[in-house]
Amino acid sequence: MSEAGNDRQLGDFIKGRLLFIEAYCQEQGLDKEKVLAAAQDAALRLAGTPEREQFLKDKVFSGVVLASAYFPEWVDGVFLEAMTVALKGPGAPLYTTSSRRPCITSEAGRFNAHRQAETVFKAFFQGKKPQDWLKYTFLSIYRQCYGVEAASKFSVEEVGPGHFKVTVDNRGLGKASRMDCSTGVGYLYGALEQLGALNIVVTHDQCGADAAFAGKLCVFDVTWT
Ligand SMILES: [Zn+2]
Repeated sequence: MSEAGNDRQLGDFIKGRLLFIEAYCQEQGLDKEKVLAAAQDAALRLAGTPEREQFLKDKVFSGVVLASAYFPEWVDGVFLEAMTVALKGPGAPLYTTSSRRPCITSEAGRFNAHRQAETVFKAFFQGKKPQDWLKYTFLSIYRQCYGVEAASKFSVEEVGPGHFKVTVDNRGLGKASRMDCSTGVGYLYGALEQLGALNIVVTHDQCGADAAFAGKLCVFDVTWT
């Protein structure tokens, strides 16, 4: 079955995952080559079908990943889990519901926010105040990555000073998962950090990908001082 309909411009995110592995290895004194090889092995195991395995070999692991490349949404999910296994071993938590308890997937999101703020999305960050970025700019970034339709089901509500509620409708999106939302927790945290916010807390208790909230919207509670 063709999955072309679900393709998104995720090249820059995948590129970011690889750079995250490198930065994490450097920080933790891990052998980068070994970890990258382990992540590739894990991704191929997690791919699930021979077609997907072949896709990873041909399009992701065979050379340089271009920021503008289009990938099916499943690629990032496989990557996030493979990265966690390679960096933390099997059984490590794949997601978190709070920035107070970071894990590999949330740290990867945080890393990407820092990196994109300095590179591809620099214009979206420069000179912005945290509240203005969250109210107006975050949506532009979301639209750029996931398309007009997904962005039309996305809302940001100002609850009070330094307190916002971000609601995302992931229903029907191939990317929807607890791991993906965990990168969202980290991305929001990293973006606000980049914009100078202090004492940032991002929580994501209600997740549509969670059995307890099946079919519901994903809500992120964001506070800072
Ligand atoms: Zn969620």
